[in-house]
Amino acid sequence: MVAKNAMEIFTLLDKSNCRECGEKTCLAFAGKVFLGQCDIRACPHIGQQEIERLNDNSAAVSDVDENAEEYISSLKHDISKLDFAETAEKIGAAFDGSMMEIRMLGKSFGIQRETGAFVTDLHLIPWVVMPLLEYVLHCQGAAVTGDWVSFRELDNGKEKYLLFKKRGEDVLKQLADKYIDFFDDIVHMFDGKQVEKAFESDVSVVLYPLPLVPVMICYWKPEEGMGSSLNLFFDRSANQNLGADSVFFLGTGLAQMFEKLAEHHGF
Ligand code: SF4
Repeated sequence: MVAKNAMEIFTLLDKSNCRECGEKTCLAFAGKVFLGQCDIRACPHIGQQEIERLNDNSAAVSDVDENAEEYISSLKHDISKLDFAETAEKIGAAFDGSMMEIRMLGKSFGIQRETGAFVTDLHLIPWVVMPLLEYVLHCQGAAVTGDWVSFRELDNGKEKYLLFKKRGEDVLKQLADKYIDFFDDIVHMFDGKQVEKAFESDVSVVLYPLPLVPVMICYWKPEEGMGSSLNLFFDRSANQNLGADSVFFLGTGLAQMFEKLAEHHGF
């Protein structure tokens, strides 16, 4: 089994929620298969061809891109079954009886209890919505430790690090290189905080894309023939509160979001 996340497995299922595998939804089944708690053959509707596709690393990323919207609807469906008051308390959100409100980058993101509709001012792209919904479903409510680790130090982060660097850290580095006010702008627009410079960086900024998942961006300016560099760090509790797969989407989604912001400013 080489799936990098539950979504890769989910995209291969027929999404009928028929329960013949013993799980309530195809999404729940995909999660258990990913965690090694179920054999994918327990779904009678999956053929040998799909199982082979799952073992073919190269096919996965583009298929996942195409299926993001469908995956998001399934996450929304499972969220509608949650106890909103209990979940809000666990994940650092608020619940007023009709809407759960999660703070994302200093902005409000609401999920209506009755309709499941989103209420937010944030410009949302699937790669940011997905980890947000996974956070609502799976966050364990672990306290933030203050111990910053790189993506590759998260559980299961190592094998996806190169792709994370390419789609997340390298994109942000290029922005920081050419967009002089990049850090000032993200601090002001997304409620970031310049913090004491960590790991001997020139700039360290902490953002809260999710209440219990802070992200620190560290940037080293170019000097003496050496190029600049940029790394993202996560609190060690991200293992319990989000998991490396969703952290991957969160980090790369933020990079895409900031890239759009930079385009808007003519960079
Ligand atoms: S048996 Fe297959 S199609 Fe039916 S709910 Fe389980 S995973 Fe989904």
